[in-house]
Amino acid sequence: MDADVIVVGAGLTGLVAAAEIADAGKRVLLLDQEGEQSIGGQAFWSLGGLFLVDSPEQRRMGVKDSHELARQDWFGSAQFDRDEDYWPRRWAEAYVDFAAGEKRSWLREMGHRVFPIVGWAERGDGRAEGHGNSVPRFHITWGTGPGVLEPFERRAREAQASGRLAFKFRHRADALTTTGGRVDGVSGAILDASTVRRGEASSRHVIGDFTLRAQAVIVASGGIGGNHDLVRQNWPKRLGDAPKYMISGVPAHVDGRMLGITEAVGARLINRDRMWHYVEGIKNWSAIWPMHGIRILPGPSPMWFDATGTRLPAPLFPGSDTLGQLHYIMSTGYDYSWFVLTQSIIKKEFALSGSEQNPDLTGKDWLMTARRATNKGAPGPVEAFKTHGVDFVVRDNLSDLVAGMNALSGDNLLKLEHLRLQIEARDREIANPFVKDAQVMNIHNARRYIGDRLTRTAKPHRILDPAHGPLIAVRLNILTRKTLGGFETDLDSRVFGRDGQIIPGLYAAGEAAGFGGGGMHGYRSLEGTFLGGCLFSGRNAGRAAAKAVG
Ligand SMILES: Cc1cc2nc3c(=O)[nH]c(=O)nc-3n(C[C@H](O)[C@H](O)[C@H](O)COP(=O)(O)OP(=O)(O)OC[C@H]3O[C@@H](n4cnc5c(N)ncnc54)[C@H](O)[C@@H]3O)c2cc1C
Repeated sequence: MDADVIVVGAGLTGLVAAAEIADAGKRVLLLDQEGEQSIGGQAFWSLGGLFLVDSPEQRRMGVKDSHELARQDWFGSAQFDRDEDYWPRRWAEAYVDFAAGEKRSWLREMGHRVFPIVGWAERGDGRAEGHGNSVPRFHITWGTGPGVLEPFERRAREAQASGRLAFKFRHRADALTTTGGRVDGVSGAILDASTVRRGEASSRHVIGDFTLRAQAVIVASGGIGGNHDLVRQNWPKRLGDAPKYMISGVPAHVDGRMLGITEAVGARLINRDRMWHYVEGIKNWSAIWPMHGIRILPGPSPMWFDATGTRLPAPLFPGSDTLGQLHYIMSTGYDYSWFVLTQSIIKKEFALSGSEQNPDLTGKDWLMTARRATNKGAPGPVEAFKTHGVDFVVRDNLSDLVAGMNALSGDNLLKLEHLRLQIEARDREIANPFVKDAQVMNIHNARRYIGDRLTRTAKPHRILDPAHGPLIAVRLNILTRKTLGGFETDLDSRVFGRDGQIIPGLYAAGEAAGFGGGGMHGYRSLEGTFLGGCLFSGRNAGRAAAKAVG
């Protein structure tokens, strides 16, 4: 045996699992197809947003949350409706317990901290029993994605120093080995050393091969978001046709290849048609990975128009219901839409997802972060997109703006009068606090929450008021990101075979397991639940495998 356990994938899930195994006194090998510079996988690039329930940060902001409310929101979003949702449901119950229980204190003991203003993501579809967060729950890690990874990389490095953990970078798993039906190793290719920067696509040039043996293997290889062919192949009809044009919210290593390799030993992959892609994607003007897109995390005020210039219907407001918006946009026959907003809105409300787009939070710079609340200008990365981003049109009047939008799309679908009528109608609602425009009501509601009023919601104003200009239009593309289905597992992350029996020696966790059980989110996510899913399922897998290998 080369180790007690082999973990495939040195992303957040793999690091958590490997750290748990080593800390339990077992020997672990952590394999990754990428070089050491890309350790941590997607989590490094993430915003580090975590779903926590009834936290001290929420209480300090006046938010009343509870396990009961979070459970209602989770199941209202998940809408589990399939036979194979048995384990996903059990994972969902366990995960809400974790998020309302030991998640925060477990992380805190390892030095993790969160930013004190709690964000409000996925505000919902307007139904108490339906999709969405009834209250703000999105806790951003102080230090963003790297801050989530830090304790686990530290633990893994300590285990490496003590000889219990060995990293094998540029080791690409191509097959799982079995003996008598038991998974007992990994074989694959050794790729040439790579000097690309973190996150860039690396070469696939093979310089050797390997076979490694262990008593158990944990698959922690991530999802399919970087492989648009697989995304299209699994695209659910209920969301319309798959988009012809998409940009990538994840690096190229999120290639989904390991999923097929694991299926080859009989593993059961469920809910492959459930996925979580965003509709507010913009092309990164300074791309790191192929087709690199960034997600705008919008506040509630931009007006949202489809490709033909018709406003999205209520309650499809910015930040409300990601898949509802995706469904609507795909029903228009075009795979893009538009935000129209003002300089006052962009400077207060636009945030960009990703560690590199938030140098203040990532760099743990209080002074720089405080500027978000003083509202003196948009954060530097947002202004940079406004200047360099190909999806932005900035003009002083509506007529020029619409001409610019038509020139950008090349479709010439937008009519000035059609947009003007809708914007003027909305603007008339601004003078009165008692209004019938549901989006404007939503803005007033957001401003009743101090966190939003401080950093996320501009004072209501007329879009066409030149004092708040210039006018800005942003073309929004579909951005691939998360895979909600995955390998069916029990609560110990042991993988079921297609015959319904556990496959001895095989575990799966993180995005490869639909973040636990094969899809603990069901159809929709409440956000901040993915990193947490990696932590929870990686921990379960690591602990269970360490125990099982004796
Ligand atoms: C920009 C961005 C922002 C995000 N923001 C948030 C957020 O705020 N909150 C949140 O909850 N989630 C967020 N996420 C999602 C979250 O980061 C990911 O879902 C999560 O990190 C996935 O972790 P993982 O370990 O399961 O997979 P990955 O990070 O994809 O790691 C898998 C690893 O396995 C390796 N691998 C794959 N196949 C093989 C093979 N055959 N052989 C060897 N190695 C292999 C890969 O190279 C990779 O290193 C964000 C993601 C991105 C990209």
